[in-house]
Amino acid sequence: MINFNYKKAANVKDAVALVSKDNSSMFIAGGTNLVDLMKRGISSPQNLIGIDQLPLNNIERTASGNIRIGAMALNSDVAENELIRSQLPLLSMALNAGASPQIRNMATTGGNMMQRTRCSYFYDISMPCNKRNPGSGCAAMNGYNRMHAIFGASDNCIAVHPSDMCVALVALDASVHITGNKKDRNVAFKDFHRLPGNTAQKDNVLENGELITAVEIPVNRFNKHYHYSKVRDRSSFAFALVSVAAALDMDGNNIKNARLAMGGVAHKPWRLFAAEEFLKGKKADEANFKQAAAIAMKDAKSYGHNEFKLRMAPQAIVNTLNIAANKS
Ligand code: SF4
Repeated sequence: MINFNYKKAANVKDAVALVSKDNSSMFIAGGTNLVDLMKRGISSPQNLIGIDQLPLNNIERTASGNIRIGAMALNSDVAENELIRSQLPLLSMALNAGASPQIRNMATTGGNMMQRTRCSYFYDISMPCNKRNPGSGCAAMNGYNRMHAIFGASDNCIAVHPSDMCVALVALDASVHITGNKKDRNVAFKDFHRLPGNTAQKDNVLENGELITAVEIPVNRFNKHYHYSKVRDRSSFAFALVSVAAALDMDGNNIKNARLAMGGVAHKPWRLFAAEEFLKGKKADEANFKQAAAIAMKDAKSYGHNEFKLRMAPQAIVNTLNIAANKS
């Protein structure tokens, strides 16, 4: 681990100004991923700008009825918040499926979005990795790639995004509030994380110095029929092999609207738009859920050791939809 300077930002403007100044500065909040990256020599910021004390931890209704979650709100606080539990229970469920209670007590909403892949070759600095060292190659492509992507990968990188929270947020049509040196902007959550393409080192669309200040979730009717399934190697503190977030707006046994997303399968939280469209107006039954899963899997591709995901993923979609539809 290299020596570094640490400074607490006085406010959001100060934080953005300090990190915008140079490429060797980074924000730090809970540090649950960044400190590991620094210890292993994967990330070497010379200046860490502390932002965990900034007043960005509110969870509140906006004037339009949306729910806004501050970027510094802790994962555990969001998961247990009464407004989230009653109005966005899918998000609460996904958060509680992530990491351990200790980590959820430290990790922030913004930090969860910024966490990096858990590809083991990314963490092993003796191995080629385009995400850590652009142009060096991808050791996972012909290596042990059991945890890796089946959607949206490139010849450059087949890593997956590790978050559970983000799978629920992309399903619920969230948007991301961002403050930069020159302007503020909002980005749809589905567009915040990137596919690897030829620039696997870039996980998301943030420019240097830009800070996530909040996520906002629109009013919805998805708080009755919902479920988050996480298939993993052990029952706690493990990243998803495959996860599914499902939410249905139902009238009797008819689906008025559906939201579906997957985790553990792509470089970004993977929204299943075509499957959602298929389910709209259909009966909530096994046959339709199987058809939706088949549509969702249309472009899936395995890389060897992760071939089992091609069978696991559609089954997980069907199971999750069944549980969501039958939740009373
Ligand atoms: Fe690196 Fe991505 Fe390849 Fe993993 S999959 S070794 S993160 S380039």
